[in-house]
Amino acid sequence: MIKRNTQLESYIRSVRPQFEDLLAQMVETPSISSDPDRVKDIHRTATLGMQYLKHFGAQARLVNTGGYPVVSGGWQVGKQYPTLTIYNHLDVQPAQEPEWRQEPFAFRKEGNRYRGRGTTDDKGPALTALFAARFAIEQGVPLNIRFLWELEEEIGSPNFQDALDQKKLIPRPDSVLVSDTIWVSRQKPAIPTGLRGLLSAQLSLRTGTTDVHSGLTGGGARNPLAELCEAAHACVDARTGRVKIPGFYDRVVPPTSKEMKEFLSSGFEVGKFKKAYGFRAIRTENRAQLIKRIWAAPTFEVHGLVGGYHGHGVKTVVPPSGQLKVSMRLVPNQNPQKIFSLLKAFLKKHNPDIRLENDGELEPFQGVTGGPYADALRKAMKTGFGKTPAFVREGGSIGAVKLMQRSWNVPILFLGLSLPEHGYHAPNEFFDWPQVSGGMRAFVEYFSQVAQMKKISRD
Ligand SMILES: [Zn+2]
Repeated sequence: MIKRNTQLESYIRSVRPQFEDLLAQMVETPSISSDPDRVKDIHRTATLGMQYLKHFGAQARLVNTGGYPVVSGGWQVGKQYPTLTIYNHLDVQPAQEPEWRQEPFAFRKEGNRYRGRGTTDDKGPALTALFAARFAIEQGVPLNIRFLWELEEEIGSPNFQDALDQKKLIPRPDSVLVSDTIWVSRQKPAIPTGLRGLLSAQLSLRTGTTDVHSGLTGGGARNPLAELCEAAHACVDARTGRVKIPGFYDRVVPPTSKEMKEFLSSGFEVGKFKKAYGFRAIRTENRAQLIKRIWAAPTFEVHGLVGGYHGHGVKTVVPPSGQLKVSMRLVPNQNPQKIFSLLKAFLKKHNPDIRLENDGELEPFQGVTGGPYADALRKAMKTGFGKTPAFVREGGSIGAVKLMQRSWNVPILFLGLSLPEHGYHAPNEFFDWPQVSGGMRAFVEYFSQVAQMKKISRD
């Protein structure tokens, strides 16, 4: 073990230039999945990923889908050993924000910092896992390590199921490690154990055919925008955020006191949260209340009210129609379809003229919080970063996670390396060497732990 540690340290030192080289090439291929002008760059990135794997001595291939391909590959060291699949994505967010202080797709190294779109989300963590895996394989760790690199994560994984259905090309592993999440604070590693789900909906109301004069018709005409505001008010208490749809909270599982204790130990600070998002005021300044609200409680948000007059000054019209765009973040055990029918039934009673459309849904995810895999991950993070991690939750959703859970029904855990200051989905994104080197140590430790676990799948 001690021998492996010194070998690992010299490996980490020696591979740094290669790591930076490969990350630079990846970052300089702008794989913006939402941009139709980047089709070539996405395919180039997929090919690059496949070439990296092959260059490292792993097997690799592209799995074609109805959309962009998925890179699948790894090392098969023995059928008798367990298999771990590591999930990352190689597509990135657009980068047209005016705040960028550099060309976002030109890789820049500044001391320990690596700048450019995709460095922390998620190309840097993907390569960190790859470098760690090569070391573990060279050391003879008895574990089959596979990689799954998606290129449509940032657009909601519309074709990921299509890839997973190709079972020969993407075999079912014994467990999954997802490396695409953010710590709560640099001071302490954070391991998410749950993700919120999402239900998006559109409420439309038409009461006339054209704009009419409020002096001639006002008082008699119905006002669709006011009625939609009234519907929003019926669904949610705008001041407290409490959702008023009957039955909405019925299946919500509140965090246990043990979970709350973990959440509170994560390094989350109310002041930092307010500053990070530029809030003047928030619904609660109580730390425990706030954490619970953003990670472990469901929400009802109004995103937009469409209709009426938006020009200069006043125009005294009564509009004929309007739309309200809303969504709900859902927590374990809420079911998006069930919630949609509750909303539908409620609105039907409240205002039967409102038309409701389902604009998409993602189920919430509840991961592993105890047992051998969680213990292994806790130990791995401690080894990698010298600090015991906190088990937290994420308020957002990763579509691919739920699809892997449904397809494979194996433990899915999260080893994320991004920090709040890295500019995730924001301008001036960067990643840093301490997270890479700590990450390699954590991955290697996790590999040797998981290699000792029971093999469950037969492929
Ligand atoms: Zn990501």
